[in-house]
Amino acid sequence: MTTYIADLTTVCGCQWGVTGSSTEEIVQKTVKHAGEAHQMKEVPPEIAQKLKAAIRPSM
Ligand SMILES: [Zn+2]
Repeated sequence: MTTYIADLTTVCGCQWGVTGSSTEEIVQKTVKHAGEAHQMKEVPPEIAQKLKAAIRPSM
């Protein structure tokens, strides 16, 4: 099964790698993180774009 990882250093500056079994799962976890850690009720488009660019398959 392919898993994915997104390094948030380039997304929101946090030293945290989000992992998930799908890109949707990573997006969901990052949205949750943004709300809890950054008080973002919604993820701004530029953050969403950076997140998409940061997601890569992980072995
Ligand atoms: Zn963060």
